[in-house]
Amino acid sequence: MLLCGTLLTSWFISDIPVLAAPRVQPLDEKVVIVIDPGHGGENEGTIENGFQEKAMTMKTAQAMYGELSLYDNVEVYMTRTEDVDLSLEERAKFAASVNADFLFSIHYNASVNHNLFGTEVWISAELPYHAYGYQFGYEHLLTMQDMGLFLRGVKTRLNDRGTDYYGIIRESVALSIPAVIIEHCHVDEDRDVSFCDDEEDLIAFGKADALSVAKYFGLKSSILGVDYSEDALNLAETDEKGRIRSTLRDETSPDVCMIELLGTEADTGMVSLQVTATDYDTPLLYYDYSIDRGLTYSALQPWPKSNALEGTYQDTFTLDIQIPSGTQANVIVRAYNLFDACTESEPLPIQQIFRYGEDEQAVNNSSITDNDNASGSTSDREKEEKKLPGTQTFLPANAGVKENESDELSFLSFLKICLIIVIILFIIILVSQSVSYHRRKKRRHQRIKDSGKKNSQPR
Ligand SMILES: [Zn+2]
Repeated sequence: MLLCGTLLTSWFISDIPVLAAPRVQPLDEKVVIVIDPGHGGENEGTIENGFQEKAMTMKTAQAMYGELSLYDNVEVYMTRTEDVDLSLEERAKFAASVNADFLFSIHYNASVNHNLFGTEVWISAELPYHAYGYQFGYEHLLTMQDMGLFLRGVKTRLNDRGTDYYGIIRESVALSIPAVIIEHCHVDEDRDVSFCDDEEDLIAFGKADALSVAKYFGLKSSILGVDYSEDALNLAETDEKGRIRSTLRDETSPDVCMIELLGTEADTGMVSLQVTATDYDTPLLYYDYSIDRGLTYSALQPWPKSNALEGTYQDTFTLDIQIPSGTQANVIVRAYNLFDACTESEPLPIQQIFRYGEDEQAVNNSSITDNDNASGSTSDREKEEKKLPGTQTFLPANAGVKENESDELSFLSFLKICLIIVIILFIIILVSQSVSYHRRKKRRHQRIKDSGKKNSQPR
C-alpha cells in the first residue's frame, strides 16, 4: 500500500502545475469578455431547495459584469440581461459577434442524490482552448479555495462523437471562442448552501469570478488601484500540445478501498478503522460509510487532504465511528474519485455488541429487540441518524425501536377503530336501504294488484 501511495504521489508531482509557467493564450491590448448567465426564460436550470438557477446566475453575472467594468482596457458583455430563452448556439454567436476573447458561462449545481458538494470548472478538450481553459480554471479554483469552497477540479467531458459534451463550450469553440463553465457550488447540499443562500453570496461569487478573470488576463484597474499583470504571466503549467491528464474523465472507479479494525472502546461504542484507498488516475474526493452492511450510508465526507488542483490526497487515514448501543455492526467504507465513481470496501463485521448509556435492566430486556434489529430491520430514526456527518452520535438502537413500536401500535389501534366505525355505518346504511326497498316493493305489488282488479272489471 505504501508503495502505491508513493507511486501515486510522484505521478501527481510530475503533473502538479508549477507557477511561473508561460501563458498560452496571447494577450491583446484590449480584452473582450462575454459573461453568460446560464439558463433563462423557460429554461430555469436547477430548481432545488427553493433555489432557481436562472435567477441566481443572473445575480452573479451582473456582479461580475459590474466588477470587471471597473478595469482598464476591458470590454464586457452579457449574453442576456433579461429572463429570456436563448439557445447555446445563440450565446456563442453573440460572443463571436463582439470578437470575445473568452466566454464565461455562470452556473449553480445540484446532484441526483443531493449529496455532492464543492465547486468545479468545465473546460474544452479541444486544443488550444483546452490549455486556455485549464489555465483559467486553475486560477479560478485558487480563488474559490480562498473563499472556503471544496474543490472538485478542472475537468473535460466528451460526448459520444468525441467532441465537447457541454453545448456552450462546444458551440463557442466551434466559433474559435475559448469558453468555460463555472459551477459555483451545489444548491442541494447543506454545506454548499451556506455559500449561496442569499443575495450577498451570489454577488460575492460574481466578484470572485471577476477577480479570477482579472488575474488570468493580467488586468489593471486605476479605479480599484490594482494591477494583476504579473499574475497573467504566472499561470498554471499546461501543455500546448496535449491534454492535461488530470482533466480527462476517469472511466474506472478507485482501484483500492480497504478497511482494517484498529480497536474498539466498549464503554463508548467507538470503533477505530484504518481506511486505505487509491485511484491510479484521479485524486480521491469523498468517502462515506455504512454500519449496517450497506443498507444505509452516512453523508459524504471530504476525503482527508483531498486537493483536486494538486491531484493529491492522503491514501490512509483513521476513521472513528460510534456504533449505537446494542447494535450488531457491519462496516463498509466507500471511496469516491474526482468523477464521483466509488469503490466499496469488503464488509467488516464488528463481533462485539456494545452496551453503554443504559441501565442493566433495560439491557437485559432489550436483548430480543436487539437481535431483531441485527437481522435487518433498521428503525427510521436510526436511518436518519446515519445520514448525519461523521462526528455524529448514534442513538441507542433499541430506544429507537421501542419508541417506533409504541407509535406503530397506537396508530394501528386508531386504524382499527376507524375501520370498525366504517363497517358499522356501512351495515346501517345497507339495512336501511334494504328495508326501504322491501317496503317500496311491497307497496308496488299492492298497487299492481289493486289496478289489476280495476282493469279486469268489465267495461
Ligand atoms: Zn446550470
